[in-house]
Amino acid sequence: MRAMQSSGGQANRNCVSCGRSIAFDANVCPYCGRDYRPQAMAPSVAKRDSGSPVAAGVLILLGSLVYIVLGGIVAAGSTIAEEWTSGESAWGVACGVIGLALGVISLLGGIFAIQRKYWALALIGGILTIPTILGLIGLILVATSRDAFES
Ligand SMILES: [Zn+2]
Repeated sequence: MRAMQSSGGQANRNCVSCGRSIAFDANVCPYCGRDYRPQAMAPSVAKRDSGSPVAAGVLILLGSLVYIVLGGIVAAGSTIAEEWTSGESAWGVACGVIGLALGVISLLGGIFAIQRKYWALALIGGILTIPTILGLIGLILVATSRDAFES
């Protein structure tokens, strides 16, 4: 009569690599070092198919367009006024240019959100466009759909 190979009732199996008996739930064969851990752990994890980043990106894009349009109007208007008042409205031009710059940065954030890349930059785009309300909603969507982003 053959004796049980292990005490405590734990099932054993034979290592496919070296053929020795190892614990059924062993991650690595103690004799030859063969790794039995599932290989599919790291990659090929299906991303949660959420529409939130796309919606957030569109909202942030719209918010950034508000900045770009307003910044453009202020900059252009101030430039015209500058010609009449000989340099009195340099601040207006500066404000317009800053508005344009914020618009371009948040535009990129919106594009990244749609592509589900660079979560942090999408978040920045949302933060910059908070005053447009559209951006505030976009920011909330970006913040709550962190898992749907690649990085
Ligand atoms: Zn082995």
